[in-house]
Amino acid sequence: MRLKNVPGSKEYIAASKFVIHDETERKGKVREYFSNDKPIRIEIGMGKGQFIYELARLNPDINYVGIEKYSSVLLRAIQKMEEEPLDNLIFIRMDAEEITDVFDKDEVDRIYLNFSDPWPKDRHAKRRLESRQFLARYKEILKSKGLIEFKTDNNDLFEFALEEINEEDWALLACTRDLHADAKLNEGNIMTEYEAKFSAAGNPINKYILQRKS
Ligand code: SAM
Repeated sequence: MRLKNVPGSKEYIAASKFVIHDETERKGKVREYFSNDKPIRIEIGMGKGQFIYELARLNPDINYVGIEKYSSVLLRAIQKMEEEPLDNLIFIRMDAEEITDVFDKDEVDRIYLNFSDPWPKDRHAKRRLESRQFLARYKEILKSKGLIEFKTDNNDLFEFALEEINEEDWALLACTRDLHADAKLNEGNIMTEYEAKFSAAGNPINKYILQRKS
């Protein structure tokens, strides 16, 4: 999701109390912000934040962190928080490539990846958020038995994501090619902005759930 550059969005974000700033200066800032021991769950590439906002609203006993690379997109999520603030949700503007600089080993309880950019060219495969390079980063920050939940309507990206799973590190707990037709997996499903758009256009939604083995 690339919205047109919104003038002033960087300054607006820099002044927002709903964003963790200078997050790469040291680890531990996220836990410090929440100042409690509740589990931390993150969405990488949250876009305008509809999904994670709704998750946070429904689950006050979990801390949520929404991560987004682009200021103009993150701005929309901040505006929603200003209208109706939640104390268990915070945002970080960053490239997920730096994720291991921000979170401690075993700090994260669950990672959500929704409708990630497909990067269709082979030479860009390592930029895909489900690539083996990203799975290695997730393994560092995710606690033992922690989960990754991934949804996409892009079949090529989903096949790629399945091929990238190293069975020594990860157990595939669930996998469907049509989430909305799977009563069990779809129970409690919260639609993202892209999910609503693509399923309305008739595209089936793929989903997997991975668990860190050790
Ligand atoms: N998750 C939302 C949804 O399902 O509606 C948005 C999907 S949109 C296609 C992908 C989002 O991921 C964009 O907002 C993009 O800026 C963000 N993104 C892509 N690569 C990223 C990265 N390396 N780090 C952080 N965000 C990233």
